Amino acid sequence: MEEEKIKVEKEKVLRAAPALGEVIRGTFRKVRLECIRKKCKCHKAKKYWHGPFYRISYGKGKKIYTVYVPKEKKVQAKRYTDNYKKLWDAIERISELNIQLLKAKNGRKK
Ligand SMILES: [Zn+2]
Repeated sequence: MEEEKIKVEKEKVLRAAPALGEVIRGTFRKVRLECIRKKCKCHKAKKYWHGPFYRISYGKGKKIYTVYVPKEKKVQAKRYTDNYKKLWDAIERISELNIQLLKAKNGRKK
């Protein structure tokens, strides 16, 4: 690829990349649960299970942590975890393009 094309591609990747301030490393999950009350109807059928509840799990060191996500923040939490993956993809892509730029011959001749 020529230098100009690489730069255009870089701009595209940068424009599409999520903001660094809007990331969460973790797995977003929606869960439904049975409770511990013995007489609750949730034990009769899956359709009575409680929830949905939202959680994010993430690993740190050798441990896995889970945090509860309040319902009003679920959209943001989901977006942030998606952003984390998108941002890494963008970093990978930019890195590849920068390597190509190192190798690219300058089109302008003197
Ligand atoms: Zn229950």
